[in-house]
Amino acid sequence: MRLQHQHDCLFCVVDLHAITQPYEPGTLPQRTLDMAIGLFASGIDPQRAIVFVQSHVPEHTELYWLLNTVTPLGELERQTQFKDKAQRQESVPAGLLNYPVLQAADVLLYEATLVPVGEDQLQHLELMREITRRWNARFADGFAFPEPQALLSTARRVLGLDGRAKMSKSLGNTIGLFDSPETIWEKLKPAATDPARVTRKDPGNPDICNIFTIHQGFSPPDTVTHVAHNCRTAGWGCLDCKRVLADNMIAALTPIRERAQALQAEPRKTIDLLRSGAAKARGIARRTMAEVRRRMGLLEGGQGAEGA
Ligand code: SF4
Repeated sequence: MRLQHQHDCLFCVVDLHAITQPYEPGTLPQRTLDMAIGLFASGIDPQRAIVFVQSHVPEHTELYWLLNTVTPLGELERQTQFKDKAQRQESVPAGLLNYPVLQAADVLLYEATLVPVGEDQLQHLELMREITRRWNARFADGFAFPEPQALLSTARRVLGLDGRAKMSKSLGNTIGLFDSPETIWEKLKPAATDPARVTRKDPGNPDICNIFTIHQGFSPPDTVTHVAHNCRTAGWGCLDCKRVLADNMIAALTPIRERAQALQAEPRKTIDLLRSGAAKARGIARRTMAEVRRRMGLLEGGQGAEGA
């Protein structure tokens, strides 16, 4: 939320990325809408930031294709996330391999200079920078893409409730923004903790406990200190620790859930906001694509009717 007050921000609901995993077409529109509702309910202000759906700006897929022509196949095959996801699928779609190229298009289309990422996305960002350098080396002539930089989160990496993989709905290890207080508690109760803490009397190590990491995101600093002390001295059980976390999560998420419920009751409002966001994004994207097409030698005229 803070970033929208410090930078010109674009927030893109990446439905085209979502379909690189097995999915149900009938539920995708609602999932896309829910993601946008989550952004607005969390405090993204459509007057300050541009919020839109990726597939509503067709220039993303056009630039994606053009960037494919300068992207080395070996680099795509080396991406850890591709290897992880590919081994979970019987038949691997090319879209999964080319996922980072679409990410590059998402960023370069707006000549973005900063990309907020977690550590797990750094490899994709480095590839994005390589694609940028390759395109610039081959085609830049009065117009060049800026090399995007990572804006790393200061928060430690939060894993899913299983304490192993990152949070992912498909793995069923998440707490959702719209989850009720009861659901949050039901999900937290069995969540993974320090595996060495077997009984209530064993001292734990908060530094290797995912519950402690989540505390750092939701609990005030004095509570975090108290949690670490109680953990190391076996002053309380993991369930006591999780109860405090659940209360703090519920306090933080309840206003978001209530705003989301109001938006869900009137989906038209969000759809209109997304339409307006897509119009603003397209204004920028068309200007970029006019430069890109010219530099890459594509015959002008095809986009003339749209004023590109
Ligand atoms: Fe984790 Fe809290 Fe249990 Fe310590 S007491 S292992 S921080 S859940």
